[in-house]
Amino acid sequence: MGSEHVKVLIIGSGPAGLTAALYTARADLEPLVIEGMQPGGQLTITTEVENYPGFPEGIMGPELMERTKAQVARFGTRFIFDKVNKVDLGSHPFTVSTDSSGKITCDALIIATGASARLLGLESEAKLMGFGVSACATCDGFFFRDKEIVVVGGGDTAMEEAVFLSKFASRVTVIHRRDELRASKIMQQRAMDNRKIEFMWNSVITEINGSRDGGVTGVLVKDTQTGEIREFPTQGVFMAIGHRPNTDVFVGLLDMDETGYITTVPGTAKTSVDGVWACGDVQDSVYRQAVTAAGTGCMAAIEAERWLAEKGIE
Ligand code: NDP
Repeated sequence: MGSEHVKVLIIGSGPAGLTAALYTARADLEPLVIEGMQPGGQLTITTEVENYPGFPEGIMGPELMERTKAQVARFGTRFIFDKVNKVDLGSHPFTVSTDSSGKITCDALIIATGASARLLGLESEAKLMGFGVSACATCDGFFFRDKEIVVVGGGDTAMEEAVFLSKFASRVTVIHRRDELRASKIMQQRAMDNRKIEFMWNSVITEINGSRDGGVTGVLVKDTQTGEIREFPTQGVFMAIGHRPNTDVFVGLLDMDETGYITTVPGTAKTSVDGVWACGDVQDSVYRQAVTAAGTGCMAAIEAERWLAEKGIE
């Protein structure tokens, strides 16, 4: 285990982290990217991406991230596959400790650790993710035209996704574990008024049936009141049980909102600590798109570059 110093350290390798790396590398700041446990981020668990500009035929999520990484590497970015276990922002340069590479100090820190969709934790859910199971209606809804699908959850995201998916699907069934929604009244009403949306109350999915070749064929649903389990045929399962920003190592070090998202100064990528920026889903619970993540990654990089120049670190 060694220790090294870099001008710019980027934690995270999704669209936000890689775009921050692209811009800082092209500014000759020789960034180091700590890739994290899911190199490429959430896009590596989706299949086709049709809403990222520049790909008229669409592109597979993993390929988009591989190509972005190759583009970033061309300008001299270094990558390490590692996990951050501790961060010290109390003194400058900042210190980041990793599981395998030891301590790294940096002048500017860009946090792009993303968020993870909450999942049910079923083996079949993991196996069929991207093959009929999705955690992103905006990304995958289009593939479910005229199909019957289910949305799991009872919050605003579930209502929003159900309404969005009703544009494509022939029927959307919201499966919720209680008999009362958590979603705001207006979002509830919007979903309830939609004739394509139905609700299945007091129900939890215990299994998703299907195969990677044939897609999803149905779910096993348990009635939480009677314990009865029955099969419900469906062709798609959308998880909408919340997201969790990956901010555990920054708790107490940076300002966050009540759900753990890092707060940034409006219109910038600046965090509450001078010299630390946050971009992508780790600071965005609203848009959560690859293109917005890339956009805020670019903002973080440009702001860091200017800040370093002002400090005379070039
Ligand atoms: P929430 O945490 O609000 O809701 C999660 C839902 O998933 C709850 O209904 C919860 O059930 C259910 N759930 C959680 N875990 C499980 C599980 N293991 N099995 C089954 N069901 C489960 O998350 P959202 O993503 O919906 O919203 C996050 C935040 O973003 C909220 O503040 C929301 O208001 C906001 N938002 C606002 C929007 C808007 O205004 N346009 C759109 C989307 C989100 P239970 O209710 O029983 O706990």
